[in-house]
Amino acid sequence: MSTFKDLGLNDDLLQAITDLGFTRPSEVQEKAIPILLNSEIDLVALAQTGTGKTAAFGFPMLQKIDVDSRTTQGLILSPTRELCLQITNEMKQYGKYCKGLNVVAIYGGASITEQAKEIKRGAQIIVATPGRMKDMINRRLVDISKIEYSVLDEADEMLNMGFKEDITSILSHTPDDKSTWLFSATMPREVAAIAKDFMYDPQEITVGRKNEGSTQVSHEYYLVNARDRYQALKRLADANPDIFSVVFCRTKRDTQKVAERLIEDGYNAGALHGDLSQNQRDLVMKSFRNKQIQMLVATDVAARGIDVDDITHVINYQLPDEIETYTHRSGRTGRAGKTGVSMVIVSKSEVRKIKGIERIIKKQFAKKEIPSGMEICEVQLMSLAKKVHNTEVNHDIDTYLGDINALFEDTSKDELIKKFFSVEFSRFYNYYKKALDLNISASNDDNRDVGDSVRYFINVGKKDGFDWMSLKDFLREVLELGKDDVFKVEAKDTFSFFNTEKELQEKVLGFFTDFKYNGRYVNVEISENRGRSRKRGKSRDRKRRDEKNFSSGKKGGRRGDGKSKSRRSGSGDFGSSRPRRSRR
Ligand code: AMP
Repeated sequence: MSTFKDLGLNDDLLQAITDLGFTRPSEVQEKAIPILLNSEIDLVALAQTGTGKTAAFGFPMLQKIDVDSRTTQGLILSPTRELCLQITNEMKQYGKYCKGLNVVAIYGGASITEQAKEIKRGAQIIVATPGRMKDMINRRLVDISKIEYSVLDEADEMLNMGFKEDITSILSHTPDDKSTWLFSATMPREVAAIAKDFMYDPQEITVGRKNEGSTQVSHEYYLVNARDRYQALKRLADANPDIFSVVFCRTKRDTQKVAERLIEDGYNAGALHGDLSQNQRDLVMKSFRNKQIQMLVATDVAARGIDVDDITHVINYQLPDEIETYTHRSGRTGRAGKTGVSMVIVSKSEVRKIKGIERIIKKQFAKKEIPSGMEICEVQLMSLAKKVHNTEVNHDIDTYLGDINALFEDTSKDELIKKFFSVEFSRFYNYYKKALDLNISASNDDNRDVGDSVRYFINVGKKDGFDWMSLKDFLREVLELGKDDVFKVEAKDTFSFFNTEKELQEKVLGFFTDFKYNGRYVNVEISENRGRSRKRGKSRDRKRRDEKNFSSGKKGGRRGDGKSKSRRSGSGDFGSSRPRRSRR
């Protein structure tokens, strides 16, 4: 294994590396640095965040630019403001002995005038988000016509976020003979296209295999009924008392809701999503970094660029729509040489997505059981015992020792220990003593989608031009749902049936209260027809009867009386709150 010196880095950088405490180059650094230092080529590097990729392009860029010149020579594009600031900060640390170096961050949500002023002072390196960069180019506040090195960091994320046009436009203002270094965790077609269109015969390096998850991360999934998702999340948190995690939800609304419920239930949680102001997001991130927040509930977009190294768990409260996104989520843990766990809470209808993810990350998931109430009590008790054991004695207590001793004069050591621990343990015990088993079995596939889902009647069908596929697409589109959220779609002549998970019931029924299609109100109600597969479901006659019931009388028009079953609330969960946790 080589040292940083072997890679050819100069003394200024080596000194900064020593200050930072980096002892050995990481794999991506070992592979990329010599290539970038010794040649003027384009490079495609497939590497996750947390592998040390910033230094892999940062060191060579710092060594190659001319700090005596005030011309902008290096441009680093990154998907988010957070990442942009993180890279800028790292570049400044790496280049702290490069006298005269000026690295400037350009990102949205901050004063463009201030940023323009900083650029004017002469920035050899600009780190930018594409939107703001394009804006500044258009306003002629920045000149990148003499760039020698450009980096597209987290290229897959930038494209996911719809920055392709901005990137194209920015690169059109740079010289053709510059070197382009593209870093990406995954290699979807769009990234390959960028490499093809904007780079000349790029050399490719891969850390791990393409699209593969970090080797430091183990992957687990937990199969529960969709209605038990939140309870399962709480148990996973309770079973890991020192958890420091990002909990991923699919929508901003769910993110906010889950975070609020966790906070109400006494967890140190916070929400991070795009409906928060930049200021609010900064505050949440600050609390997370300080570990005042142990569970950061986030959307995929908002979580991009989270640069916290010691996240112990990533929890997929819901799987992402695009399974490729899973790689990014799980990459938030297992960073900088640490290990991490990526947990997925799935319902039966989603469990097959796990196989797809396994193919992408080239790793197997372990199917795990949600811990029982008593298992959690045991973990909590032992964690408390260890904490007590490791606590340094505060001698200010000595003054009160006489009174305390007097109080416990007749109490034996055993009894005292029991009493002491009962204070904490009883909270958990009382909460969990009647807790149900949340685990369900993946077998019984015929029944798979039905057990924990809701079947709906909808008054459009083949006569409206729908078949099951187009109706599914239509429902997904208008309801803004994911690929697998609508299932068991059956299109009849004048009406149809479909299923969703119970948690979507409110959304579905709420949406169709005044929705018109081709000038006619679309009526959606909960169906008595459970949509069981024919093999094990109702007799044909009974099925026909159900359909007839729906077609007579309920066809067309809107749900009228407000007493429909659709208003029924979900079945009561076990214990909606938890013993309040003392805040740390
Ligand atoms: P990155 O993949 O660039 O986001 O880096 C992840 C983290 O690893 C950052 O906090 C870096 O400071 C740190 N890091 C980068 N290179 C090394 C190294 N060779 N040894 C130890 N830590 C490193």
